[in-house]
Order: sequence, then C-alpha cells, then structure tokens
Amino acid sequence: MAILVLGGAGYIGSHTVDQLVEQANDVIVVDNLSTGHIQAVNPQAKFYQGDIRDKTFMNSVFDKEKDIEVVVHFASFSIVPESMLDPLKYFDNNIGGMITLLEVMHQHQVLKMVFSSTAATYGEPKRVPIEEADLKIPTNPYGQSKLGMENIIKWCDEAYGIKFVALRYFNVAGAKVDGSIGEDHRNETHLVPIILQVASGKRDKLQIFGGDYATEDGTCVRDYVHVLDLAKAHILAIQYLNENHASTVFNLGSSTGFSNMEILKAARKVTGKAIPAEVVERRAGDPAVLIADSKKARNILGWQPQYDDIEEIIQTAWQWQQTHPNGYVDDELTIE
Ligand code: UDP
Repeated sequence: MAILVLGGAGYIGSHTVDQLVEQANDVIVVDNLSTGHIQAVNPQAKFYQGDIRDKTFMNSVFDKEKDIEVVVHFASFSIVPESMLDPLKYFDNNIGGMITLLEVMHQHQVLKMVFSSTAATYGEPKRVPIEEADLKIPTNPYGQSKLGMENIIKWCDEAYGIKFVALRYFNVAGAKVDGSIGEDHRNETHLVPIILQVASGKRDKLQIFGGDYATEDGTCVRDYVHVLDLAKAHILAIQYLNENHASTVFNLGSSTGFSNMEILKAARKVTGKAIPAEVVERRAGDPAVLIADSKKARNILGWQPQYDDIEEIIQTAWQWQQTHPNGYVDDELTIE
C-alpha cells in the first residue's frame, strides 16, 4: 500500500510525511511548492511537483503509482486574513482542488481520504468547547471553503463510496523536536511564529489584533496543538479508514484555551526576551474564542496529544526559529 500525501511540503504535511516515512510506509508526495518547501520533504518519500487542480497531472501520478490506496490531502490555502481579501482564490484552490482530486480518485478507484479541515468551519461558536455536531456558520471564506470540501466529499461517499476522515484542526504550533523541520510561511501571519520573530529580532514588535473581545483579558482565545500530535492523528485516521469504518469528522485540539496575551507571556518566559507588543484594531474574520472538544478523536481514534504544555509547544517552535532564522532557504536541496 502506498500513501499519497498532497501538500506534503507544507508545514503540517511535511511533519506527517516524516512520521509516515519513519514508520516505514511507502509515501508519495505531491506539492506545487506555491507555499511549501522541497527541503521540508523527507527524502525517502517520492516527490512530484504539480498542482492538484491539474487533472492531467493528477491522472499521470495515479497512472504511474498503482499502489496508492489512501490520499492524505493538505494541499489547501489556510490564511484567514488572506481569504477575507481574496475569497475566490480560496474557493478555486480549496473547493476546485477537492473536486478535481475526487474526480481523479473516483476514476482510479482510490477510495480513502484523510484531509485537513478546520475550527474555522464553526465560525463564532455558540458554546465552548465545541463539539463536531455544533452549528457551523463560518465567519471567513477559508472556513467556508473547508466546510464546502467536507460537504462535497460527503456526497461522493454516498455516490462513489469514497470514505473520508476530515480533521478539524484548531491552532497548530511547534516543530519537530530536533529542529530539522518547522513552520516557514513566506508571508507569516500566524501568532506563534510572529511572536518568535519578534523575540529573535526579525520584527520590531507584535501587534495584537483586538483587545476588546468578550474574553478575560480582551484578546482572542485559541486552542493550540503541537504539529507532531496533529501528524499522529493523520496516521491514526489512515488506520481508521483501513479498518473500514464509516466516514467521519474529528476535532483536533488540546481542549484548553489560551488568549493571545497568554501566548505572548508564555513566549516571553520560554525565550527570556522582552518581546514588545501593542494592542491594535481587530482583524476581520476572527471569532473571539475557539476551543475544541476532542473527546471523539480521543475515544474513537485513540488520539492522545503528547504535548499538552503550551510552553513546551512554544519551546520547539523557538528551537526551529533559532536554528532556521530564515526558514528553509539555508537548507540544502535534498530532492531534485
Ligand atoms: N494574531 C495577532 N497578531 C498577529 C497574528 C495573529 O494578534 O500578528 C491573533 C489573531 O488575530 C488570532 C490569533 O492571533 O486572534 C491566532 O491567529 P493565527 O493567524 O495564528 O491563527 P488562526 O486562528 O487565524 O488560524
């Protein structure tokens, strides 16, 4: 059995590929490298550069790689503020990409998919922690595109028998503990890496978006999960599908919320740096509080996050930031 990982050169994808390879799986990676990095891909995986919206290319991969039985799909855009400015980019890549992928999978009778969904499908939750069946009214096009992907694949399960697990990530952070792979977005927008860029002197200060939310300290609250724990959940989801269970959706979070201010304080402690910060206007599309109820993943998949300490999560991200101040650019290319 081979596992095809789409978007395997991205942040969460590359950590998952790494774990899959370490567990002796036959792994094939497809990535268009628009946001991913070839240096992030474990060299034991086979790599194809191409776009999942390119049906000819995707057909050629499935034609060549006859052993593919499961697809793990990370190849999406995932930046909330960008999606607010350019919604069509998100619908084209995320929903359009999903449709092409499903067509090609159906044609090649590859009938299992694990894919990245998000807490942003819920929008402004009516209660926290959020359970999978709770109301979903996304407050940004990114969340809407992921909800669309979930809905589309449901009908493809019904019609073509394509079984799926959608994993609704809450906020991911951290890096592989040896600091060899980590988070490198060309235009960084995420809280933890931005804070650490301020700590390392790459940015002058952190801007905290909004200080007037209905939370204890007025800043938004998020639920952080370590990228290695997320990667592990994908492997458990593959096993789940291989055991022929029904298609389903799981929240992946720690079930603990930290405000943006608390994350800043934790990062100051971990790094020992002052990290200047100011509170500015709210960022459009941000719900006040997102905290997962992850009981379902724990009970059904047997998922047990290993990193439940926010300082430890930040510490691994800090390790990566210090060894890779410019991200992957200084790393050697290991795959041609
Ligand atoms: N955030 C912030 N300053 C930044 C980047 C992010 O205050 O420079 C806030 C953002 O408004 C949100 C939280 O940090 O409340 C998490 O945002 P991030 O972009 O990391 O992840 P998201 O929740 O959008 O997936």
